[in-house]
Amino acid sequence: MSIQTCLRCKGSCVHQIHGGVEIDQCSQCGGVWLDQGELEAILETSPNGNTPNSEISSGVHLNAGISNDARQDHLSCPFCSKTMNAMNFAYDSGVIINRCPNHGVWLDSGELKRIEDNRAFWRAEAAKRESEWKQHLHPSNPTSAETNQTLLDFFRSIFF
Ligand SMILES: [Zn+2]
Ligand SMILES: [Zn+2]
Repeated sequence: MSIQTCLRCKGSCVHQIHGGVEIDQCSQCGGVWLDQGELEAILETSPNGNTPNSEISSGVHLNAGISNDARQDHLSCPFCSKTMNAMNFAYDSGVIINRCPNHGVWLDSGELKRIEDNRAFWRAEAAKRESEWKQHLHPSNPTSAETNQTLLDFFRSIFF
């Protein structure tokens, strides 16, 4: 499903391909409408936060005519007209997105890029922690191996 009119500024929306997913972007304020599941699809296809559409990801679109007050306003879903839930993406990313549980999400200009950056950061962090954890379980560096050997000798001296 696509939208023609921007939820934020009533500007006209154009189709864009971003991360292999068709999105609707406002030609005036740069806000983006994503159908249900499309945000997840984009995040799946951009594991390193590198996005093919630099125009969107660099956030060159200015929030023309949108005050901070206006950004706090509740948006209505373009398909069911229900007030969309304002929520902090990934609980603490600081990116406030508006989501209709049935139809999709609205992202203001630059928010998609921030979400992708946030996801890339946590992916990298998780990979780092995983390797640290694996090394802890299976020490491969000489220092921990030596430490283990010393401990083993120590226990042997006690029990045997
Ligand atoms: Zn707009
Ligand atoms: Zn809806």
